This record gives sequence, structure tokens and C-alpha cells, in this order.
Amino acid sequence: MSADNLGSSGSGPRRYCRAAAKSGHAQCDRALLRLHRSRMSMMTKESAQRYVGGCLCGALRYEATGEPLYAGHCYCADCRKASGAGFVPFMGFASSAVRVSGQTRAFRSKSAKGTDAVRNFCPTCSSLVLGGEVGKDAEITIYAGSLDDPSSFRPTIAIFTRGRPAWAVIPPQLKMFETTPS
Ligand SMILES: [Zn+2]
Ligand SMILES: [Zn+2]
Repeated sequence: MSADNLGSSGSGPRRYCRAAAKSGHAQCDRALLRLHRSRMSMMTKESAQRYVGGCLCGALRYEATGEPLYAGHCYCADCRKASGAGFVPFMGFASSAVRVSGQTRAFRSKSAKGTDAVRNFCPTCSSLVLGGEVGKDAEITIYAGSLDDPSSFRPTIAIFTRGRPAWAVIPPQLKMFETTPS
């Protein structure tokens, strides 16, 4: 039995390439390149950002993959009422990038544009977790306070800044919009 069969002849690709090092064996080079590429693509998949979170009791959970389309703070009066806080931190994703598990209880109100604004709560613990019609709308909004790791939230914009109370302070690095960017 050769050392190779025992798996003791050194680490991975080098074993294949002893011949390549000596002779410039093209087949070995190509095999190495393939190995390298497959490892790189695995690493890329593993390092894709995931945003995971849910409600206070744990019954309503979500997972979003990739980077958000937009991220910011909303200072509108409806978000203030719905959350009981000075603003709601949000991240927008294509709904295809978001997986939701557990029941949601939706509340609909008219948005500034006159369309339905849908806010989703956990029916058990009443946490405010998601925006948008789950399973219907093209985009879903995740409220960043519900993230398991809230430090991963990187807001860039502040919307509906007009009419906010003085104590609802806007971080200086956020780009401000009296209503929305569009
Ligand atoms: Zn809950
Ligand atoms: Zn709002």
C-alpha cells in the first residue's frame, strides 16, 4: 500500500501536484484551479450576509439573505404610534430574499401615498416585526429592532423627518428626507 492510500502523504492539492511542479503537467494545473474555484464559491456562499430575527416570544421568525435594498429610520407619526417609539428602524428586502416562519397579525392603514401600509405583529406577544403583505408584496420591510444581532443594522437615511418631536433625535450621518427619497 502506498502512502497516498493511507492519506498520510501531506495536505490536499500539493499531493496531486508533485508531478505538476516537476513537469508543468497541464492536467494537474487545471485540477488545482477547479479545486480553488470551488472552494472560493463555497466561501462566497458562506459569507453571504444573513439577517435573522423575530418577535419577543419567538413564535414569529424571519431570515433575510443578502444586503438590504435600503436601510434607515422612519419618523412618521404612524410608525411612532405603532411602535410607541420616536422612530422605527427599517431594512427593505426583495420578498424573495426573506423567509418568514410563524403566524403574523397584520394591521393596515393608509400610507402617505394613499396605498395600504401593512404592519405585521406577532399574534402571541404583539411585537412589531415586519412591514408589507407577507407572500404578496414585492418587498418586505424588516424592523431592525427585532434582529437577533441588531449591531448588523447600518442605517443610511432618515425619512418623514418633518413634524417629528424634538426628542426623536436623528443620527448626524443619516441623509434626511422630509418625506421619502422619491
Ligand atoms: Zn411573539
Ligand atoms: Zn413610518
